[in-house]
Amino acid sequence: MMTRFAAILAVAALSACAGQTPDTVVINGKIFTSSPSQPWVQALAIRGDRIIAVGDTSVISRLAGSSTRTIDAGGRTVVPGFNDAHQHIAITPPSDRLELPFDPTIDQIAAALREQIKTTAPGRLIQGEFADAAWSNAAFTRAWLDAIAPEHPVWLIAFTGHGLLVNSRALALIETGDNLSEVEGGVIGRDNRGRLNGRFEEYAEYLLNRRLALKTDAAEATRLYRQFAADARAFGITSIQLLGDSLPAADASKGLVAADAPMRWRYFRFPIGVGGETMDSRPPLPPQPTPLIEMKGMKWILDGTPIERLGAMRAAYSDAPGQKGHIDLSPARIEQFVGWAYGSEDPLAVHAFGDAAIDAYISAVERGGRAEVWKLKRPRIEHGDMMSPDLIPRVKAMGMLVIQNPTHFTFPEIFLARYGKERLAWMQPMKSLLDAGIPIAIGSDGPMNPFLNIMAATTHPANPKEALTREQAVTAYTAGSAFAEFKEREKGQLVVGQLADLAVLSADLFSVPVAELEAIRSVMTVFGGRIVHDTGVIH
Ligand SMILES: [Zn+2]
Repeated sequence: MMTRFAAILAVAALSACAGQTPDTVVINGKIFTSSPSQPWVQALAIRGDRIIAVGDTSVISRLAGSSTRTIDAGGRTVVPGFNDAHQHIAITPPSDRLELPFDPTIDQIAAALREQIKTTAPGRLIQGEFADAAWSNAAFTRAWLDAIAPEHPVWLIAFTGHGLLVNSRALALIETGDNLSEVEGGVIGRDNRGRLNGRFEEYAEYLLNRRLALKTDAAEATRLYRQFAADARAFGITSIQLLGDSLPAADASKGLVAADAPMRWRYFRFPIGVGGETMDSRPPLPPQPTPLIEMKGMKWILDGTPIERLGAMRAAYSDAPGQKGHIDLSPARIEQFVGWAYGSEDPLAVHAFGDAAIDAYISAVERGGRAEVWKLKRPRIEHGDMMSPDLIPRVKAMGMLVIQNPTHFTFPEIFLARYGKERLAWMQPMKSLLDAGIPIAIGSDGPMNPFLNIMAATTHPANPKEALTREQAVTAYTAGSAFAEFKEREKGQLVVGQLADLAVLSADLFSVPVAELEAIRSVMTVFGGRIVHDTGVIH
């Protein structure tokens, strides 16, 4: 209903504006619209927060009046504002970060931590990231951390977000003791006397992250949201979808409102059983605080990732005979949240990485209702990396979407070890999904740089035949991401009637050599017709 109402408003606004003087015109651009009917234009006109005309520079220039601001793009490439369809903002108390290489050994972590505690005041949080080398080492425990850092809370997270090690000071900070009861969907590491060994997986980890987020004072949370939005605008990002924020809805809503950032936010609730959200009763839809912040949708996580061999696979990992990962949540729980989504206007977003997890999700959707109804609900598969060819027609049949995160394509050696050649040949489909008519969106779920993600999407190091063209990647990152949040009539395309969210780029995204993609930035970001980021190169 909201979408239809907004569309009527948009049409009304358009007819009211016809013949009126634009507030701003953008001319002499190489403008990619993400609209298949007219992908390239030179110029566009903006009135209020909407685009009122697109076309050649000569035509659009004639619309300008004495009060119209002219942005001369000088031949630069212009794209719709990026919509990061899968992002996380870690809300934590102020901390210092360990300087570590990718996939550090525990000795490297120990050395970095010893160095860090020389300058970090006792009691202040220290954070760091690890990967497989540390996680697969049995010595990587709370006791080991306590011996190195008895005075500082230490919070070490797997770079994939799946796997957490904390020390005793960190547990004390979040008031969590050895009596912590089992967490549905999670694994709590314990020593042989039943005490917490500091290692937490999946929902147990998310519970601890949420407890840490809740220890963050409101002003700091607001500062983190505001800073994140400012960083994003410099990349030409104008919409961010938060898929399981560490803060629960009520607190996140307050923080986002207080941040008062020129950014369109969507917050998916992430029920964990702390902070007012439970898994047993459907978390209520929070109030919608401002037109820029939409608190709607629910996120669930079915498995981990192949890095730590927690992606739930139908066949065992090639480098760990017998290990298949596991599905975090029970069939009954999956059936329950699928049922909630079927009976409401509350979109469903499910992290499913391994083929067994994706299969379990599709099966629950198939059993949970009629395809015609599901098509209106657009159930989202977050990641969908191991979507084997047999699953693709079932995804298509139920009207499901795939939100993919291209920087995840950049670990071909690890994937080859985990999966072997045969599975590598079909993993992380992108082109196959488009060919099958499945809507795709792009979210970063990692480094927010959209140009880095576009580089990964268009080269696809893990499975090059699944690479997208640059036009397809930008379309997925803008129009595709808007579709994934039911906003395709509002934003995502630079066409008449849509929001004037756009970025003028420092280099031509569509023609620079691959190696130069990552360094592209927005030189000017326009948000609802307002300039919200400007490096000063356009006069
Ligand atoms: Zn994620």
